[in-house]
Amino acid sequence: MYLDNAASTPMDPRVVDVITDHFKNTYGNASSLHRMGQVAHQVMEDSRQIVADLINANKEDIYFTSSGTESDNIAITGVALKCKKKGNHIITTSIEHHAIKKTCLELEKQGFDITFLSVDEYGQISLDELEKAITDRTVLISVMFANNEIGTIQPIKKIGEIAKRYDVIFHTDAVQAFGKVAIDVKNMNIDLLSASSHKLYGPKGVGLLYIRNNGERIGWSKVVQPIMYGGSHEKKMRPSTENVPGIAGFAKAVEIAKEEMHKEAKRLTKLRDKIIKSVLESIDGSYLNGHPTKRLPNNVSLGFKCVDGEALLVSLNMEDIGASTGSACTSTSKSPSHVLLAIGRTPEEATGSLRVTLGKFTTNDEIDYFLETLPIVIEQIRSMPPLDSWFCCGNRVQI
Ligand SMILES: *Cc1c(COP(=O)(O)O)cnc(C)c1O
Repeated sequence: MYLDNAASTPMDPRVVDVITDHFKNTYGNASSLHRMGQVAHQVMEDSRQIVADLINANKEDIYFTSSGTESDNIAITGVALKCKKKGNHIITTSIEHHAIKKTCLELEKQGFDITFLSVDEYGQISLDELEKAITDRTVLISVMFANNEIGTIQPIKKIGEIAKRYDVIFHTDAVQAFGKVAIDVKNMNIDLLSASSHKLYGPKGVGLLYIRNNGERIGWSKVVQPIMYGGSHEKKMRPSTENVPGIAGFAKAVEIAKEEMHKEAKRLTKLRDKIIKSVLESIDGSYLNGHPTKRLPNNVSLGFKCVDGEALLVSLNMEDIGASTGSACTSTSKSPSHVLLAIGRTPEEATGSLRVTLGKFTTNDEIDYFLETLPIVIEQIRSMPPLDSWFCCGNRVQI
């Protein structure tokens, strides 16, 4: 049973069909002038229109990349380098994905000034604090749309209004939100946006960066310095021969999401709330991480007193349930999640979390099985003699 859809999703079979077809037939280089090149070029442009439509963007403002991580890197480093003369101050949050966090930390080493906004107990930033942090040296605000660990959704439209009022560029890492909740880049005043195909039933290794071009203030050549150099693909913003089958697969996934996301969001919200209610009622010492309602429809992040998150994952895995302790990127390191620490959890609590993320292939029966199994597994772990590395109620217990 796969309950780790925030880490990655299985591809929709309809996406696999589209990609397979393009792998076989659309082999031309989209920059070539012959017919095979033109066919590939057309597939790219049709795909661009489809993904633009999902977020009410203009087609020309979509740049295909190789991942959400790459889009985040181009957005942050690209703006920092290009706007250096105007200022060296960037505002972001303390709960960003590593693709943003580590890029900002690297820029900090290089002399840029970074403000990491704190968040409240639910993982939301304060708009007041944001406004107070803006100076005349601020060139960029980067706030994630929805958090990948705890699912909390930020007040994006209000952040966009503030950014516009102070004439600061606004980027959002929308990798988790794209195709799951409604996004309108124009209405929300989003200048730059990152998304990734494999988080919405598309192939891995394909992403996009949206860069608003309103003709005066924003436009990639005015505000984003490329971080790679080569050919003139993607208007020189992101050179290298385009992954046409992958991009077509991404577009197919978006087309399906556009059709199904509202219905799917309702279904998953019900399942999500059923899990939260059932766990909080049936398991002592359990609590929810993140906002009770302003959260992704598919995200449940839980904590259990006196239960090590890793032990819980191993036990669940033996029951054929694949979940996560936090983000996939931190699951191989033992250090507590920076997101859980930022919402005020203790280091022990932060290592004892369980992230369950649902997807469109998740069924009611699976959730029933999960809800039957989880209390038993928790009980077993709590009754076992603690192992060397386990935390038990604040004490690292040695055998
Ligand atoms: C997964 C994820 C990324 C990274 O996207 P990749 O395509 O896997 O590189 C960035 N930000 C968030 C919020 C994510 O969930």
